[in-house]
Amino acid sequence: MIVTDKYLLSEEEEKKLILREYRGLLRQLKHRLKKGDKKLVRRAFEVAADAHKHMRRKSGEPYILHPLAVARIVVEEIGLGVTSVICALLHDTVEDTEVTLKEIELEFGSTPSRIVEGLTKISNVVETKDTTQQAENFKKILLTLADDPRVILIKIADRLHNMRTLESMSRDKQLKIASETSYLYAPLAHRLGLYEIKTEMEDLCLKITDREVHDEIAQKLKDTKRERSRYINEFIKPIREELEVNHFDFEIYGRPKSIHSIWNKMRTKHVTFEEVYDLFAIRIILKTEHEKEDCWKVFSLITNHYQHSVERLRDWVSTPKSNGYEALHTTVMGPGGKWVEVQIRTERMNDIAEKGLAAHWKYKEGGNATESKLDDWLKNIRELLQNPDSNAMDFIQDLKKDIFLDEIYTYTPNGDMRILPSGSTALDFAFSIHSELGKTCIGAKVNYKLVPISHVLRNADQIEIITSKKQKPNDDWLKFVVTAKARSRIKYYLKEEKRIKAQDGKEILSRKLDHLKVPASQQNLFEIANFFHYHSPTDLLYSIAIGGFDVRELSQFSVHGDRLIAPEQPKREEPLPENEEQLGRNIPAKGYELVIFGESADRIQYKLANCCQPIPGDDVFGFITASEGLKIHRTNCPNAATLLANYGHRVVKAKWAKNKEISFLTGVKINGLDDVGVIHKITNVVSGELRMNMRSMSIDSKDGIFEGTIMVFVNHKEELDELCHRLESLNGINKVTRLDMEPTQN
Ligand code: MN
Repeated sequence: MIVTDKYLLSEEEEKKLILREYRGLLRQLKHRLKKGDKKLVRRAFEVAADAHKHMRRKSGEPYILHPLAVARIVVEEIGLGVTSVICALLHDTVEDTEVTLKEIELEFGSTPSRIVEGLTKISNVVETKDTTQQAENFKKILLTLADDPRVILIKIADRLHNMRTLESMSRDKQLKIASETSYLYAPLAHRLGLYEIKTEMEDLCLKITDREVHDEIAQKLKDTKRERSRYINEFIKPIREELEVNHFDFEIYGRPKSIHSIWNKMRTKHVTFEEVYDLFAIRIILKTEHEKEDCWKVFSLITNHYQHSVERLRDWVSTPKSNGYEALHTTVMGPGGKWVEVQIRTERMNDIAEKGLAAHWKYKEGGNATESKLDDWLKNIRELLQNPDSNAMDFIQDLKKDIFLDEIYTYTPNGDMRILPSGSTALDFAFSIHSELGKTCIGAKVNYKLVPISHVLRNADQIEIITSKKQKPNDDWLKFVVTAKARSRIKYYLKEEKRIKAQDGKEILSRKLDHLKVPASQQNLFEIANFFHYHSPTDLLYSIAIGGFDVRELSQFSVHGDRLIAPEQPKREEPLPENEEQLGRNIPAKGYELVIFGESADRIQYKLANCCQPIPGDDVFGFITASEGLKIHRTNCPNAATLLANYGHRVVKAKWAKNKEISFLTGVKINGLDDVGVIHKITNVVSGELRMNMRSMSIDSKDGIFEGTIMVFVNHKEELDELCHRLESLNGINKVTRLDMEPTQN
């Protein structure tokens, strides 16, 4: 048992703490308790407390504090009721203790037992070693969602509490949990409308993967707080007066955007903290019966005072987002020429925005239209999951695309609405209506105009699909469809077609093998496929069928009994690109820079990942690739979350050791005003003052603004920081940032 010095409580104090937490939970639940409920909750607490009584968390706390905290999140932050609280209290019992599902069923009934069963299944997810297994498990998680959404909601609460208490975990555990969270749980929370939780999860992830950036932004937010408050008050004043004059019952306040979203802006738009224009948003919450009407009235009152941007008006009051979000967003020009986002909601909408799916249940009696949209989405997931051929990894990738994209509203000729991710094409639309329609689609009429199937749709388009019986899906289709449904159906058809075609190939091959007097056994097929680098025998057979592979090639094989033996593969030394050695890319030379844990480091060769180009001083991890050995990535690499979440078993711990003999290639991006001497000034700093070895420099200038990239060799992150710092202090230079690659697809 590890008891850290942070945690020193006597048994008595511990008991008091546990009871205090339990009473806190009851207080929150009070107004929902019906007759007999209190007894059940108490019983669940007792069962859990007893089952976990000898267990402690990594921090040294009694374990029962964890289920108690999860139960509180379930009530206070997600808004679920008694059944969910019981399940949250029991969520780790079946997994980790003697308690059985049967006992839970006998004591609490079949619903809690089913939900706890779902939670137990999901919790096995993290420990698996196999990639496809991991993806299968993610798929399982999504299945439970389609089953009883409470399972995933409690799981999200569980994950949130784990993220909040990650401090005492080991570094690699932290990274793994954070990656899974940003890869799966945060997007899911978002999709289920749990904005607050999603935001907190993202901030906590950033804190783990990029502590420096997180703390810097947090500090800057703190430093600018007074100034911001002053501005917000100035901005709000006339609106408040106007709303009061018009007898609105309302609340108005400004709130800062999350650290993660600010960081995201900085990174994707290449701007500094100071340049992120929407560091905060103004929120107006109305108490009213006439929701739609009053939201628009308030909008009109605001625009009496401030000029609004027509492009940035978002009306999710008339048509809610598909995750149920409702609000009116507008961006107006505030004092000092600053753009300010204003969000107008009613109390009910606010409840939905904060508690998502669960709040929908609460308002269900009202016969809300958004309810059915969430149902649609769940139905969609169920359909996809039932596709027996869908590869789990592809499925997750495709689904994530659906989760992240913005939405557009499109219409059938009859005026039925379809919500699609933005970027959707006419073909996506066809598949969204019916697979058969998609499969045979040859074109469409968008707003009565004829367009190709790849035509990208826009908001409010009306689409009529044109089909032909002769049409069938081809590979190209995958290049432009964006919805998960279209992708998975097209892949399915293509696979089917390949399978059928492969039959022809099999016949051709069999004849050839007959001739060689060996059977067309699986073993022989694999021998051939492997030798010619086909992924599978099916791929080989398909290639034969379409004339991509000539069976005469088989004459180089020899025959032993009924086995076909491939000739020796000539050993190919992969020649390195010319200056690779000099770049420090491959490091078998003397003086290791990297310590790789758990192995003797001096035998291991590694490469630095191209996506993030780590240099000594960066926080890094090693990743074992299929074809290129060990690759080193930064923990804040754009691809890190995907790698860690899906291939945890291929990750090795790595850390830099002090040694300055090897140089690493890295790059910086520079922005500034185009000035005659600027290039000279930059090279002067790089080669002159810092004596750095510059590899290349490219400058683009337009309308008096220039943007440049410099590639240099450095020994350590400190040198890079120094370079950025020096360049930034030059006259005319606006901003210097480290070069980052875009996340790669898949
Ligand atoms: Mn747990």
